[in-house]
Amino acid sequence: MIPKECKRLAEVDFPIAEVSKHAVREKSIRHGHPSTLHLWWARRPLAACWAMLMALLLPDPCDPNCPDDFKQAARRTLKVPVTLWKKPGESDLSLRESLLSFIANFANWDNSANPTYLDVARKLVRAAYPEETPLVVDPFAGGGAIPLEALRVGCETFASDLNPVACLILKTMLEDIPRHGPELADELRRVGAQIKEAAEKKLVGFYPLDPDGARPIAYLWARTVRCESPDCGAEIPLMRSFWLCKKANRKRALRYKLVRPKGTAPHVELEIFEPITEREVLTGTVTRARATCLCCNKVLSPDRVRAQLSEQRGGADVIFDERQSGTGVPPVRIGGARLLAVVTLKPGEQGRFYRLPTERDYEAVWKAAKALEKKVAQASGLSESD
Ligand SMILES: [Zn+2]
Repeated sequence: MIPKECKRLAEVDFPIAEVSKHAVREKSIRHGHPSTLHLWWARRPLAACWAMLMALLLPDPCDPNCPDDFKQAARRTLKVPVTLWKKPGESDLSLRESLLSFIANFANWDNSANPTYLDVARKLVRAAYPEETPLVVDPFAGGGAIPLEALRVGCETFASDLNPVACLILKTMLEDIPRHGPELADELRRVGAQIKEAAEKKLVGFYPLDPDGARPIAYLWARTVRCESPDCGAEIPLMRSFWLCKKANRKRALRYKLVRPKGTAPHVELEIFEPITEREVLTGTVTRARATCLCCNKVLSPDRVRAQLSEQRGGADVIFDERQSGTGVPPVRIGGARLLAVVTLKPGEQGRFYRLPTERDYEAVWKAAKALEKKVAQASGLSESD
């Protein structure tokens, strides 16, 4: 048992520069990192949690109250014949330096699953607590970095959180994955495929096939406002960029031409092209909430953009001419959100394809909007009858 008066390593020294370096690097690691299980804000780097845990669990060998048994066992443990950390000499100071060097090196993500490190870490914890396994309690555990590292070094752990999402992450990461391992991943894939299949069945009607058999997988939209310049009145699609795809072998972007029919407002017609250089692609029509008219280059102030969008209830819906509704003629778009392009997959061909929208796409959107209205009405009917 470590006497109460004995200082812990963290109270006397800590390899902060090295641990920080590893913690920063860890942020850019995606593959295999627990952070990819579910996004959790303010997730603590595992490197920092691990290092701080060890520095708090282990006593400082230079403290006069530090048990001799621990010092002897730690010295033996750290002397394993690998050159991964500084080896301890005979002095207490050199043992402290060796422990700190071990902690700093194990904070490196590349070493996180190294069996030698894990084994040494567990032996050190056991040497410090020969009578009982230490319990690490983290009542606000969030993404679970602290309890995870505590389990890995052989502690018992208690983790909780008020947020149900955090609780689910904790349960999955600390209980389910260690218990079921790869089986759990297989099961997730199986259930995921089932859900995908069920969703496809339900949604297939909203993504009608193109005449050539291509299946739309995404509709790219822009909200629109009207140019308020007195002799213009053109529709301005609010676009941050004219790029559709920046992949090297599949560069696609939009460009436009102006059409000025007599008697009505001018408008822009879009086309899809394959740019050779970045410079061929225009910058978007919106910057810092200002919109620039493609027909007359006048700028619409952020206030006016906001006012026009709020008149359209945010601007995410298409406004259809409903006068013909019920006659069987598909309604025509007269404003609101505008389709820029449709992304499709072609049977037997690799990659994504981009095409301009057609009347059929708007018809599909209209049908989807009607189906949604019906669902909403049903749902509110249900809740009223409750
Ligand atoms: Zn204009």
